Amino acid sequence: MIVMTPQASEAQVAAVREKLAATGVHVLVMPGELTTAIGAIGDPERVGELGLEGMAGVDRVVPISRPYKLASSELAHHEPTRFEVEGHVVGGNETFTLIAGPCTVESSEQTLRVARAVRDAGASMLRGGAFKPRTSPFAFKGLGVLGLELLAEARAETGLPVVTEFLDTTHADAIAEYADVIQIGARNMQNYALLEVAGKLGKPVLLKRGLSSSLDELLQAADYILKEGNERVMLCERGIRTFETATRFTLDLGAVPWLKLHSHLPVIVDPSHASGDRRLVEPLSRAAAAVGADGIIVEVHEDPEKALCDGPQALYARDFAAYVASVAVHAALCGRQLA
Ligand code: PEP
Ligand code: MN
Repeated sequence: MIVMTPQASEAQVAAVREKLAATGVHVLVMPGELTTAIGAIGDPERVGELGLEGMAGVDRVVPISRPYKLASSELAHHEPTRFEVEGHVVGGNETFTLIAGPCTVESSEQTLRVARAVRDAGASMLRGGAFKPRTSPFAFKGLGVLGLELLAEARAETGLPVVTEFLDTTHADAIAEYADVIQIGARNMQNYALLEVAGKLGKPVLLKRGLSSSLDELLQAADYILKEGNERVMLCERGIRTFETATRFTLDLGAVPWLKLHSHLPVIVDPSHASGDRRLVEPLSRAAAAVGADGIIVEVHEDPEKALCDGPQALYARDFAAYVASVAVHAALCGRQLA
């Protein structure tokens, strides 16, 4: 968008318009009360090369064409997106959503015990992986469909909706049958075929940021889901690769207010995978609440020493209620109540 100065003459406006039109972009002149703005819709690089800032009567050139469209706060919505998952509100700036549970479903007993503990402490959804993406092909990859059945059993008993990872398009039918929220894992953020299928399943999606993905790329990945007509998308900051190796990943807390500014979608933080260390999970969770996150997804286990996956970062189920109370205080400071 080219904003003219209040003193710009009609001839100066016309000169800018002609210069733009010559490059083939679509030109829209919008006279305002004080100034005239000229919209140029098309290839931003070509417009950038024109040197419009130097032309007489031009005040400034403001890029408005972000690479992400549907996920952008600029485009479709000005209100933050708010939706419900089985009656639990997500987004909308007044709610703090707590998603908790084991990294991986290991057994009926393990899943039920954690589900009861997190429900009693105030969680609004149960997480748990049935299909696990593992760095080593020899590691435990989850119980598959049996894992989904165990999650459904825990949902039936506790009433908690289930968040579980959609790893591969071949699992689409099973995931659609059992999941209440479809998780796209960090390693699959740029699996565009998977995103399109996820967008078509008619369920809310929790989209995790890739290990080395920029926020622009995250929002463009969200566009893949949104363009299927699915508006119930949550973004998830789960830590990124940096030079720092002391923590498992580096939690990018700056991403939270940035995403809240540039997108209308709710932002959830995962302090478990970001840190890899349960001792850091509570402080990072409080920080996430304080920078305006819409919620947290956190790993909890009754006996983390025996967990088949991600034990060192899992909170003890017996400590979970105290953890929730502490995080809720920080969420309340930002005007949010537990969902
Ligand atoms: C998980 O949530 O268990 C998980 C594998 O997370 P991520 O995709 O962020 O590594
Ligand atoms: Mn995990």
